Amino acid sequence: MYPIAHLAVTNLAHNNPIASLIWGNISHWIIDETCSEYRPMNVLMIIYEAIIAISFLLYTKCWWCVLGLLPDVIEAGYVAIKGIEVWNSGELLFWFHKYHGEAIWSFKKTVMVEVILLIIAMLIRR
Ligand SMILES: [Zn+2]
Repeated sequence: MYPIAHLAVTNLAHNNPIASLIWGNISHWIIDETCSEYRPMNVLMIIYEAIIAISFLLYTKCWWCVLGLLPDVIEAGYVAIKGIEVWNSGELLFWFHKYHGEAIWSFKKTVMVEVILLIIAMLIRR
């Protein structure tokens, strides 16, 4: 799943750095394993994700939520070091980032799930 979902769910750790690290990475694994987001990532999707993610961080001031993105940051570093071939071949570092043949979600379904996770996270954190 994309950053918005991970930030929203990591938000439940109440901006505690240790809790955000542990819960953010456990929830990252669960979300990536169960959700098959819209692909391929395109410029529109990157802009959308960046605007919502930055707005979320500025609104909640839950800066430790970024620890929930750690697996994606590590994976991006791995791809940068190993080359784009590992991305194209699917030979990624984390098993939950590998494609297992599941049905790819539409853009609409991906955004709907992210919005639902954002609303749930914001309601729980109130
Ligand atoms: Zn991920």
